[in-house]
Amino acid sequence: MKDLKCIRCNGDMIKSYIDGKFSAVRKDGVYDGVTTNRFMCKECGHIEEYAINPKYLENNSKK
Ligand SMILES: [Zn+2]
Repeated sequence: MKDLKCIRCNGDMIKSYIDGKFSAVRKDGVYDGVTTNRFMCKECGHIEEYAINPKYLENNSKK
């Protein structure tokens, strides 16, 4: 996730110090969530957010 460029203006993206959270309902109906990293463009303010482990919800539902 280093040297991310903004998809709108190609500016430099900086990482938020505070991790985010993406919450959803798993296939088995249990509420769960994954930790996310957030990035903001220093030029235009565009924000992107990425789950650290996007497969987490899917994998946990296969038990
Ligand atoms: Zn930008």
